[in-house]
Amino acid sequence: MALMKMQVRCACRHRMGLEVGIRSQRDLEILKNFLAGLPRVPEVSIHIRRGKDFEFYFSDDEPCRNKQYVDAAVSLLDALPGISVVVHDESDPHARTLSASGMEAYAGACRAIDPSLMRRGKILYVEFSGRLVPRDYIGLMESIRATGIGSVGACIDTGHVYYYYRKKVGQRRGKAVESMSRFIGEVRATGVPVSYHVHDCTPESPHPRYHVFDHRPVGEGEIGLGGFRRIAGYLAGEKVTLEILPLPDPGKNALTDEEVGLLTGYAASHGIDEGRELRNGRIMKRTLEAMVESRRILDDLLASL
Ligand SMILES: [Zn+2]
Repeated sequence: MALMKMQVRCACRHRMGLEVGIRSQRDLEILKNFLAGLPRVPEVSIHIRRGKDFEFYFSDDEPCRNKQYVDAAVSLLDALPGISVVVHDESDPHARTLSASGMEAYAGACRAIDPSLMRRGKILYVEFSGRLVPRDYIGLMESIRATGIGSVGACIDTGHVYYYYRKKVGQRRGKAVESMSRFIGEVRATGVPVSYHVHDCTPESPHPRYHVFDHRPVGEGEIGLGGFRRIAGYLAGEKVTLEILPLPDPGKNALTDEEVGLLTGYAASHGIDEGRELRNGRIMKRTLEAMVESRRILDDLLASL
């Protein structure tokens, strides 16, 4: 929680939104209590992770099960704080394509949850995570749009899209950037609301702790400044979240006395190892600084358009 407080402060100071991932009802309760205790709350986007409590399995075309997923989603979406919710493109966890009935079931589920989203002024963004092939993902957005659903849209994650074309399709760097740009254009052309997760990707070297290839600071991966310049026109004035994972080590970062107090106080009251909490605090601080720097780089690219 001390680490969360550091994030909230940074988000407020730099007018950036805050993205929080939750996996369970328990996470949700902790988050709600945490937000309720804050003097200032930045714009919060909730990323729903697959877990035992949450299953967005909308492509299941068995009507009874589909209805259960829809009912569970409606009560969850009602209970969530914030106005935007992100969920990965859920289809059969092993399949890469949606059958016609799976596509219809997915769009039908979105139509069923649309009224409760509308009532709460929320938008559910379905994120392309490379599980679906782009053709089916875009087809899904087209059918969502065609049924007049107003509050379900697309989340375009630059790292996931780039990784898909670079590694799963095997394109060269420049080509993968071109494909990413075309993908964004096609998703936008469907007319659904779009939000962006922006981060760089290092397809050849996974993060030492999280073992993923993306979620790196802007300009530090293969997409690079040239790649982000290529898509900057799409990002201008849009809802952009920098989704950068904690950096692998704290570097030379020093904490302020106040930050030390926050972290050691939290460690003491929760029986956590103080040294570990301080190290995590330094990693968090360095990561937040990298996010601010990524934001600055993006703003500069947008200003130069
Ligand atoms: Zn993402």
